[in-house]
Amino acid sequence: MPSSRTTSRVSLAAILTLLTGLAVTALLFVAVSALEYSKMELSFQQRGHMRAAAIRRGMDDTLELVTILNGVFKSVGVVSREQFASFTQPLLERYPFVQAFNFHRVLDDDGARAYQAAMAQRYPGYQLHDAGNLPLTPRAQHVIVDYLEPMEGNEAAFGLDVASIAPMARAIAEAVDSGQPRTTPLMRLAQERAQQQGFVMMIPVYRAGAELGTVAQRRAAWLGNTSAVIRSTDLIQKILLAADLLDDPELLVQVYIGDDLRPANLVYTRGRASDEAPAPHWLQRWLAFDYRAPYVRTFSAAGKSWHVQVTPLERPFLPHHLGSLSTLLGGLLFSLLTAAFVNSLARRSVRVQRLVDERTHALKLSNDKLADDVAARKRTEEALQESEHRFRRLLALSSDWYWEQDEQFRFTNITGGFFDKGKQDPQAFLGKTRWEAQPDKWDNRQGREHQATLEAHLPFSNLEYALLGVDGQTHWFITSGEPVYDRRGKFRGYRGTGTEITERKLAEQRIQHIAHHDVLTGLPNRVLLQDRLAQAVAFANRSGKPLWVMLIDLDRFKFVNDSMGHKAGDQLLQTVAQRLQDSVRESDTVARLSGDEFVAILTEYPEEALSHDVAQRIMRAVTRPVMLEGKEFFVTCSIGVAVYGADGTSAQRLIEHADIAMYRAKKLGRNNTQFYEPTMNEEARERLRIESALRSALERQEFVLHYQPQVDLQSGRVVGMEALLRWQHPELGMVAPHRFIGLAEETGLIVEIGAWVLREACTQARAWIDAGHGALRIAVNLSPRQFSEPQLVSSIAEVLRQTGLPPACLDIELTEGLFMHDVTQAVELLHKLKSLGLALSIDDFGTGYSSFSYLRHFPIDVLKIDRSFVSDIGDGDEAAIVVSIIALAHNLKLRVIAEGVETASQLDCLRRNGCDEIQGYYFSPALPAADFEQLLRQGRTLQAPLAHPA
Ligand code: C2E
Ligand code: CA
Ligand code: CA
Repeated sequence: MPSSRTTSRVSLAAILTLLTGLAVTALLFVAVSALEYSKMELSFQQRGHMRAAAIRRGMDDTLELVTILNGVFKSVGVVSREQFASFTQPLLERYPFVQAFNFHRVLDDDGARAYQAAMAQRYPGYQLHDAGNLPLTPRAQHVIVDYLEPMEGNEAAFGLDVASIAPMARAIAEAVDSGQPRTTPLMRLAQERAQQQGFVMMIPVYRAGAELGTVAQRRAAWLGNTSAVIRSTDLIQKILLAADLLDDPELLVQVYIGDDLRPANLVYTRGRASDEAPAPHWLQRWLAFDYRAPYVRTFSAAGKSWHVQVTPLERPFLPHHLGSLSTLLGGLLFSLLTAAFVNSLARRSVRVQRLVDERTHALKLSNDKLADDVAARKRTEEALQESEHRFRRLLALSSDWYWEQDEQFRFTNITGGFFDKGKQDPQAFLGKTRWEAQPDKWDNRQGREHQATLEAHLPFSNLEYALLGVDGQTHWFITSGEPVYDRRGKFRGYRGTGTEITERKLAEQRIQHIAHHDVLTGLPNRVLLQDRLAQAVAFANRSGKPLWVMLIDLDRFKFVNDSMGHKAGDQLLQTVAQRLQDSVRESDTVARLSGDEFVAILTEYPEEALSHDVAQRIMRAVTRPVMLEGKEFFVTCSIGVAVYGADGTSAQRLIEHADIAMYRAKKLGRNNTQFYEPTMNEEARERLRIESALRSALERQEFVLHYQPQVDLQSGRVVGMEALLRWQHPELGMVAPHRFIGLAEETGLIVEIGAWVLREACTQARAWIDAGHGALRIAVNLSPRQFSEPQLVSSIAEVLRQTGLPPACLDIELTEGLFMHDVTQAVELLHKLKSLGLALSIDDFGTGYSSFSYLRHFPIDVLKIDRSFVSDIGDGDEAAIVVSIIALAHNLKLRVIAEGVETASQLDCLRRNGCDEIQGYYFSPALPAADFEQLLRQGRTLQAPLAHPA
């Protein structure tokens, strides 16, 4: 900002002022100069005029004197020498410029000589003489200077015959002839010793009374002349001196006598000659106008032309130009000062302007800021209004409301929602405290706590309460509030918001119910069970009353579910649940633990009331026939009971104990009740032991495979074998699969174990083929867990390749469970397996999925009828199942193997019904490899029935 302003240190106004000042100064200077010059000119003209006039007056005076003198002669006649002297004496004193007064006496030669002689007597040595002091030359007339006053200084002229001087003679002649005064031209005077010229003025004196009419008469009457001798230089000098006009250093006074201003006519010069005047300084010349035109005055006096020329000399500059110079200097000074002043003013005003600009700018900035502030404030206000509006809208939309209370906790304001949505009567609330409005609602712990909170002026939140609405319904509310203080910190009451939460409350209750109840049966679920159990335990502890926990598991529910479908299964479960609930008391809890497992908590029974009878009652209730899809079903259940406090077990372990007892009941052939005993715990512990041992079993090579022959019923020959896993544990001994396969599946170890089994089985089968026992088929069990392994197909192919077992000799046993989930994916995988060239069997057929339709779509080769069906052969119904399975399989072109054939009758039945192969103790249990090889080498066959009953 300061860049452009500081550069012009002299403002335009100052320059203009200066210029104006200079112009005015110049004008004034010129005007004053002009005045000065005109004044000088005037004074010069005056002075010239005065000098010319003085000179003229002097000449006139001289003529007057001569005339007066002449007048004396005229009237008196020729006066005596003495009279002349006395008469002229005062005149000479008064007019000092007169050199001398004369009387010229006219004489003839004789007269002259006589006169000379007479005079010589009086003035010894007196001699008449011509000009140049020569002796008198004879001539008709002599004009002698007779009277001469004063004598002193004019001696040379005394006795001079002026007729000898030609110009004088001429002038005299003229005078005489004219009778008028005449003046000689300038000439050297007889008495002159220096260079000065002079002239003589004369008037003829005629004889008194003579006729003077003509020249001749005048000549005849002529006696002489009265004259005055004038030394021209002295004359003028004296005139000027007398007039006090002599000393003017600024003037050059020149007087010419004659026709023109020739140097020869110059008679008087006073002042420095201008010729040698040095060239004036240019400035002076410029300052001084050329006023040097001389003043010339011409007049005629005594018959001559007089020229008075007055030339101004160089004047001292300063005194004459003091006015103009001081005007100039003053003007300049004034202009400069004014300009400086104006400049300072201007600069000051610039500074002021700048200051004003800066202030204005600052003001503008602060204005802008203010405007911004105002805008921001406005926005804030708008936002506030907006948010308030929004708040109101939201309040209106939601079930929320706003309330205020005074210092006494009385409601002063409650917005509409509470009344509209909460169906409350405003009269019941406004002006009252919460507990005044509903005394009965708040006269409890919650109410007293709330009141205490308010009295302590503390905020509160999520206070829930229910009120009966004007619609007769119960409405739930939740409210939060905070104390209100004024600026001085004085408590002013409370304010807060409230919400009608009836719907939420109901939803919560529903969710609570869902979260705590089993969807299918409506019974409390595992979560609620825990809760109830804790309550029951607490009650038992308090009351000392007995507490029973029963675990009820349905027997063979899976079969019903699989064979009849989920719907039937669900229906069965619902029925059972209802029956269980009906067979206990209100205060008891019946919960569904999982699938077909239920738990009953029996509490608050008097000591003697809890007995085996309760369990019996429950079992009877469950075992009542159930109608499913028009058919009667019978289900049994196994019950385990844990009694609380009996052996100091903790509440948490009650269900575990009941579970263990229930397992025992199952083990004991189902459909019975077992009470938990500490020894039962051993089994459970064993499971844990097994699990940890199982993890290292593969590494320690504790697994072996046993082989169970599969015999063709037509030929009776061993056509293949099923590889069955055995665990040779160093401490537990030989562990059966059912004790660890499940665990291995649960833990995932089955994948690794299964891989080992496949490799081992294939290797063994290949070895026996190589040993010349024919193309035996080896059946390997595949766990569902393995089935879902992504590398299943490739790893089987790899094992086949590495062991060199022909794929056709491998039979993979699958369980029906595989097909229950993703059928299409399962089918895809089966096809992939099939494409390796191996055979696929369905193991334990009949225990799983009930629908046979899938068999049509699956690339299956073999059906293995489950052991349970075979063992029941003899009972009419079960045989019918086996028969129908065989028929179905054959219909689908599948081979049928019956498992668990233990008796000849079973074998016979199967053979009769066209079963293809059997596997079971009847022929051989699973054997170690060596024993199995022995059997092969022996070439054992199944004997055909010797006696065939008709
Ligand atoms: P499974 O596949 O049904 O095997 C047949 C079971 O029936 C074998 O029991 C066998 O010893 C037994 N058994 C054979 N003939 C008779 C008989 O006449 N009467 C009776 N009561 N039982 C007979 P094991 O070996 O204890 O195997 C039990 C289950 O363990 C097998 O049932 C199978 O599901 C599973 N398992 C065995 N080895 C393996 C294996 O290597 N991998 C997989 N995933 N599971 C295996
Ligand atoms: Ca099997
Ligand atoms: Ca089986």
